[in-house]
Formats: sequence, C-alpha cells, structure tokens
Amino acid sequence: MKDIKQAFLFLSHLSSETIIKEFKNIRRSTENTGDAFFLYDATGKIVPDKINKLSPYLYSKECLSSLYYPTIGQNIIPGHAHFPLFQFFLDKPDYDYYWVIEYDVRFCGEWQLFFDSFLKTNADFLSCHIRSNSDEPSWPWWKLNHPREYIPLHERLRSFNPIYRISNPAISFLHRAFRSGWCGHHEVAIPTLLQRNGLTIREISGSSKYTVLGMENKYYSGSGSNSGGVLSSGTMRYRPVFWRYGYGNNKLYHPVKPLKTVFYDNMLYYSALWKQSLGDFISRRKLIFKKKAKKSLTPQPQLQYFALNILDHCNLRCKGCDHFAAIAEKRFVSLDNIKKDLAQMSKILNGEIPRIGIMGGESLLHPQLKEILICARLFFPGTVLQLLTNGLLLLKQDEDFWRICREQNILIVNTKYPINLDHDAIEKTATAQNVMFEHYQNTGEITKTSYKIPLDLEGRQDPRKSFINCFHANVLPLLMEGKLYPCTVAPNVRHFNKRFGTHLELEDSDSLDIHRVNKASEITNFLSCPKAFCRYCDVHNRSYGHKWERSKFEISEWVTDKTVI
Ligand code: SF4
Repeated sequence: MKDIKQAFLFLSHLSSETIIKEFKNIRRSTENTGDAFFLYDATGKIVPDKINKLSPYLYSKECLSSLYYPTIGQNIIPGHAHFPLFQFFLDKPDYDYYWVIEYDVRFCGEWQLFFDSFLKTNADFLSCHIRSNSDEPSWPWWKLNHPREYIPLHERLRSFNPIYRISNPAISFLHRAFRSGWCGHHEVAIPTLLQRNGLTIREISGSSKYTVLGMENKYYSGSGSNSGGVLSSGTMRYRPVFWRYGYGNNKLYHPVKPLKTVFYDNMLYYSALWKQSLGDFISRRKLIFKKKAKKSLTPQPQLQYFALNILDHCNLRCKGCDHFAAIAEKRFVSLDNIKKDLAQMSKILNGEIPRIGIMGGESLLHPQLKEILICARLFFPGTVLQLLTNGLLLLKQDEDFWRICREQNILIVNTKYPINLDHDAIEKTATAQNVMFEHYQNTGEITKTSYKIPLDLEGRQDPRKSFINCFHANVLPLLMEGKLYPCTVAPNVRHFNKRFGTHLELEDSDSLDIHRVNKASEITNFLSCPKAFCRYCDVHNRSYGHKWERSKFEISEWVTDKTVI
C-alpha cells in the first residue's frame, strides 16, 4: 500500500485549555500517519500566545470573499464551515486526504485507532449521518443552487460534518464546482455534488446504506431527527449539547461544550424545540379544523341521506339520547304528513337518494309503520331504506310486517343494547324471513356505549365553530312534519325545554320548509350553513364511549357540570 499523506485539521474559534489539550491529543495520535494543524478562527481578535505556540493555521471571515465561492450568508456559521478547509487546501494541496475535526468532537478512545481504521477505505468523502431528502424532508438546509444547473430535491443528500475526511480529487473537484457557482450549505453541497459526479461517499458508522462495511454502529449509532430535522439522539448529534462524555468505549461524541455554555445552549435548544412542537401542534389543529370546515361548509353535490322522524317517544329511554326520546311525550307523526313529506322530497330529489333512515323514538311503536314503509318505497324505489330499531319489539312482529319488509326491500338496522334481549334469535328470524338485517355499526358483541352531547343553556357557543365540529352537520339531517333540520338535536329540543323549563329557542332559519323548495341544491345549500341554534351546542365538551345506561330523566344527562342551571 502506497504511503498515504494525511492532514488532520482541527478547527476552533476558542482557545480553552481543554480544546488545546484535545488538539495535542490528536497531534500525538497522528504523528506517524500525517500532519496535524490547529486551524484557528482569528476573526476580529488577537491570537492568544497559547494558540501561537501551536503554530496555528489562521483563517477568518475574510475567506468568505477571498475564495470567490458563492455564499449563503454573511458568517462562517451556518453553512460555510468548509471554507477554512478549502483555503488550507489551496495553500497546501499535496495531501491525499484531509481530515476535518471540529473543536467540539471527542473520541472516547485512542484517536489513532479511529483514524487508522479508515486507512484502507478509499472513499472520497467519509462523514456522518448521510441521508436523502426523502429521509429527512424537514431539515431546513436542502437548498442547493447554481446559475445554470439544477439537481432535483430527491437526488440531494445531506451529511453531518463535525468530523469528516475528504480526498484530494474530491476537494479539487468541489473547488471547481464552487467556483462555477454551486452554492449551498456544506452539509448538502459536499455529499450531493460528489455523489452526482461519481465520487464515492461513505458513512463513518451508523447503519445507513452508505456505512463503510464493518463499521456499522462502531463509532456511533444512528441519530433520530426531531420534527424540525435536528439530529437529536445518539452520541453524534446536533443538539442537545453534552457536557460530559465517555460512556461508550471507542465512540465519537458531538457536540461536547464547556459546562458554562451547556446550560444556555441547551436552554435555547429545548425552548426552540418546545416552540416547534407547539407550532406543530397548532398547525395540526388548524389543519384538522380546516378540513372539518371544508367538509361541513361545502354543499354536497347530491344529498346522500336524511332521517325520517315518524314518532318522538321510545320504549327503551337511553340516557342522554340526542333525539331526547327518553323524555319525549308520546306522539306519532301522522301517516298523512309522512306521505306528503315523502312525496315532496321525492319530487325535489327526482326520487333518488342513496339512503333514508326511518326512525324516532322507537320506530316499531308507530301503529302505521307498515304503511309508512310501503309509502317510502313507492316514492324512493331505488333507495336503501333503513328501519332503525332498538329491537325490543322485533320478535313480536307479525308475518305481515316481515312480508312487507321483504317485499319492500327494507333493511332492518338493530342497535345491540346491553339489555336482556335475544339478539341471535332476532337475527335468525330476520334471516328466516329473508329480510335484510344488520346490527347498527356492526358492533359485534354487545358493546353499545353512549355519548354525551351537552347543551349550553345560555347559548354562548360560537355557532360556526359548533357546526364545523359537529358530527351531524351537513351529513345527518332530519325530516319531520314538512321541515328539514340539520340534525336530531334542534327539532327535538322542545322535549328538553318542556321537561326542564328551559328556553332553547329555534329560529325560522334553523329549519327548511321542504314544501317551498324546488331544487335539490336549496337543500344542500341549507345543510352546509351553520345554524343559529348551534349556539346551544357545547360541541367542545362532547364525550363518547360512556357505559350505556337507561335515562334517569335528569337534566345532567344533557348539560356539563360547568353549565349554570
Ligand atoms: S344544532 Fe348545530 S351543532 Fe347542534 S347538533 Fe345540530 S347541527 Fe350540530
């Protein structure tokens, strides 16, 4: 193997005893394999005697202009930490390899062992954490410009360069590339330009596809990035700063800083991280709200569904029912009114809508249910007609009921409440009768839970916000006695008012008189607008997954603890 001529460049703008000691350590370790130089940043200062004694190679901010490379800023940091190397190279161009070691890199072991382990590796560029743009899109320094050429983002690489080795051909090539106008942070410019031009790049350790064979996780392991693209874990990282090192044998550490600066530095890091996380959280919330707003406030191209309310009361009476059926007095919608409404909706929708839910209250309590089902099919021949029921009366239905369901293609949707009811027998009966049947939301085992959708008795909510965050809005309208409502809550709140003496009033604009409507778009436009009544819905405090219970007819089932009564 021919003798390799290596230069070891230790870069520092500081002159503490610890740093000098580390340089001397490197110089001693490399005296048989190359020449070590202390590259001292003398920008605006007098070089201290203790540095002068090391015969330093001096550089300053001047190199930003003297090299005639385009720059991305006014200072060496950030982005131009490679300029001193290039200045050095132009002065001393006879080395085969140039190692660059920043002042805050430490090796917990013999530096000689570290450097020598790469003597047989002829890569042009050896550095840390080499990644592509798709690996780390949030890293903020991906810009790489040239007046006439372009490298697509997906072809760009980044490396982490507190310590690296670069070959003479690589540095000569880059010198020409920078002079020709390539401009970018050195951590993207060096690996990207070298790789693109056929020079070999490898990673010192870690476990990427660039890692030198046999060096996997040897001198450091991978470092995860935080949401801002900052390498923030492992021993070779950008932040947080180490003030002690050496837990791992033969491991590289970065950044190791003097104790007095660690606290301040890490405080800046963690507060930036916190701000970033908070910013991410807020933007995520904003994005979710924007998506919800788009969904709620955009008229549907075609009405997909409406619920047909045929009666108010119920024989099960669930706690917190959002139809208020638990506290509703007995009342049926007349068959005549139902017919008129279905005829009108059919006229508006040209007899076409994907799905209608026939419900109450408990729908099986309606004495003219069979006629309602026949009528619904008459006006909506191709629609999925769902008959929603709690199932309590299903096994008591006569043959005629089943025949009509079969002939009219009615889909029975039974909610599996945790009550003493033989759900299997119900399902078997429906199957035997050849009637379409399913359990509501396919709950499988009996898992029906309840939700609480509290009201704000004072009407202090922002109606638009409530509407945008409401699961009813724009998708679950309810038709009752000639009027279409945006949800089940507004039309049925009267039961709540009557029971508890409250005054949650509806306005004319909260419903749409379907007998005055000519076009389907009038309905979809109406449904996509927040309603005045939404001010009574405390959507923010809705909660789900409560154990199902029967109602105790208490106001607390429909208001939060915070509500003033
Ligand atoms: S009134 Fe508005 S917020 Fe309340 S349930 Fe109806 S659509 Fe939703």
